[in-house]
Amino acid sequence: VSGRVYLVGAGPGALDLLTLRAARLLESADIVFYDALANPEMLKLAPNAKLVAVGKRHGRHSTAQTFINKQLVDAAKKYATVVRLKGGDPMLFGRAQEEIDALTAAGIEVEVVPGITAALAASASLKVSLTRRGIARHVAFVTPRIGKMERESDWIATAVAADTAVIYMGAGEAEAIAQTLIARGRRADTPVALIENASLASERQWLGRLEELAVISRALNGGPAIIVLGEVLAERGALQALTELPAWRHLSSSLG
Ligand code: SAH
Repeated sequence: VSGRVYLVGAGPGALDLLTLRAARLLESADIVFYDALANPEMLKLAPNAKLVAVGKRHGRHSTAQTFINKQLVDAAKKYATVVRLKGGDPMLFGRAQEEIDALTAAGIEVEVVPGITAALAASASLKVSLTRRGIARHVAFVTPRIGKMERESDWIATAVAADTAVIYMGAGEAEAIAQTLIARGRRADTPVALIENASLASERQWLGRLEELAVISRALNGGPAIIVLGEVLAERGALQALTELPAWRHLSSSLG
């Protein structure tokens, strides 16, 4: 009676950054639960599926996680192939564990299909290796976002210490983040990049210094955005060429 639930990484947004496995599962899906981050074009790959939106961006229009868990369990009792499409990679900052645990507890089989996470899509767009030899030997993926009942985490110390730090879900509080990182010891002139809508036609990127991050972030347009921090960015010729310009002029559209 029980179907199988696939937690499928949708990647950063571009349709052709889906894995083949993800595309095949969408094609055979009976029902697809999708995030606010999902590209509508992707849903067209699931012509036979019932489509259910479970968006949770910025906590707005929030569908409580326990309700999503229950919907997945119920769907698995009705349908053979249940796809839960999640932005980027399902296992990073995506509450995958809650869903896996709830499904497993209900005796339902779960499989996870990895996807390209936003940090790596941003790295590709910037053409900057996050682990450039001789400059960065560690990369930290961090988020300032903390949910109810969650244990405190000193993500700041990690973002200060990491050769390269990538900050998810932080663009909306870029000013506070920059101030805190500088107060805690990260150099104010650390190169920083802000990338909005990575991999999509609407992608934009800005380069600057950590002390300019607040100003840069005012140019954001409401799309998902990620912050990359570290000396690996200084090696990018474009940043060196543009250091004379104010940060808000460091637009990727003019960098190509
Ligand atoms: N599981 C996802 C992350 C979910 S948290 C992944 O692996 O990418 C949501 C955060 O991811 C956003 O606040 C933003 O910081 C980042 N993000 C997701 N898609 C993005 C994109 N296309 N461009 C830039 N940042 C993105």
